[in-house]
Amino acid sequence: MVDGVPAETIARAVGTPAYVYSAAAVRQRYRALADAFSSLSPLICYALKANPNRAVCAVLAKEGAGAEVVSGGELRRALAAGFRAEQIVFSGVGKTPDELSLAVRAGVLALNVESEAELSALARLARRLGRRAAVSIRVNPGVEAGGHRHLATGHGGAKFGVAPAQALMLCRRARREPALELRGLHCHIGSQILSPRPYAKALGVVLGLVERRGGMGVRYEDEPDTGPIRRRLRPGARKAALDCAALARTVVAALRPWPRLRLVLEPGRYLTAEAGLLLTTVLYRKRVGPSRFIVVDAAMNDLARPALYDAYHPVAPARLSDAAEAVVDVVGPVCETGDVLARARRLPWLGAGEILAVLKTGAYGFSMSSQYNSRLRAPEVLVEGGRWRLIRKRETYEDLVRHER
Ligand SMILES: *Cc1c(COP(=O)(O)O)cnc(C)c1O
Repeated sequence: MVDGVPAETIARAVGTPAYVYSAAAVRQRYRALADAFSSLSPLICYALKANPNRAVCAVLAKEGAGAEVVSGGELRRALAAGFRAEQIVFSGVGKTPDELSLAVRAGVLALNVESEAELSALARLARRLGRRAAVSIRVNPGVEAGGHRHLATGHGGAKFGVAPAQALMLCRRARREPALELRGLHCHIGSQILSPRPYAKALGVVLGLVERRGGMGVRYEDEPDTGPIRRRLRPGARKAALDCAALARTVVAALRPWPRLRLVLEPGRYLTAEAGLLLTTVLYRKRVGPSRFIVVDAAMNDLARPALYDAYHPVAPARLSDAAEAVVDVVGPVCETGDVLARARRLPWLGAGEILAVLKTGAYGFSMSSQYNSRLRAPEVLVEGGRWRLIRKRETYEDLVRHER
């Protein structure tokens, strides 16, 4: 069940594979975070790349959230979804002149500048536009953190930000430049961080000047009970992945000496990962030697995280099953050995037509999906107030060749 709506009802109506999100679960996460940090009244900027669907963004925009964007496309989406420009921050090591210009003209809260060359380019552009560009300097604090080496962004070898000493130099430059307005410091140390400690360390490095945070982890590993399962995405029913109260205590204490600093947090996954699931239908089951496979209609093009990061996502049947359990790999139809959605799981040995849900896929699920193998991208559904609606339709074969000439 997703907020009272049976997953199978949605699967029947829109087909599979299909992404389903709970608006209530997104809201609940946002409010939990806002409450934990309430003494600092932070601006919570949702990192759109986790799930940029405008209907999902609109849920957060209505809560008062801001947005964190990393491309011109995301900036346009954020504005279209109802985020106010003064609550949008723009990060990324390779912003193009067009993207810089779009952001300056929109009047975003801050462009997170990631190099000296970018600061110069931005100053030139702002002068030409006759505008002041609001900037913050992205500091790379040299902190190792994150669940996978591809998810760590704050260590010395990563391409992100500038070293603390250079950050100070860039701050001085930004202050001297009339076309720039220095708004703060930005720091992002990685994704999938489940403890406040690396944040405390980074805060220490940036010496209380850190105004933005991100990358808060989601606990993917807590296995659902195998066998017959009924799951609900119900507000309050979820165990917080990262203890945001503990993180808030750490940050509040660290920022106490600087009461005039304004804190901007930029969570993505934390807000949407556990609010979403991917519904998929069993096509076949097969045995190859000692291995058992459940072949489903969703694949690595729909959900890239397992193939890309060896990510774990719980898998559960959508209805009670009497089938005997077995240890199985859940695999998709794509022609890659890596197309395994779930490896060595105890699941009922389900037959064709049964529906499975791949859980905690509301972040970096659809947003990382592709048409690889010329597969149609899945539809997205939002459940809100006990009703579901299509927020992105399934692609068609025409969509596959639409832009080819
Ligand atoms: C991706 C990203 C985030 C959000 O990361 P999550 O793990 O989804 O919370 C925040 N800030 C920056 C700069 C990012 O690149």
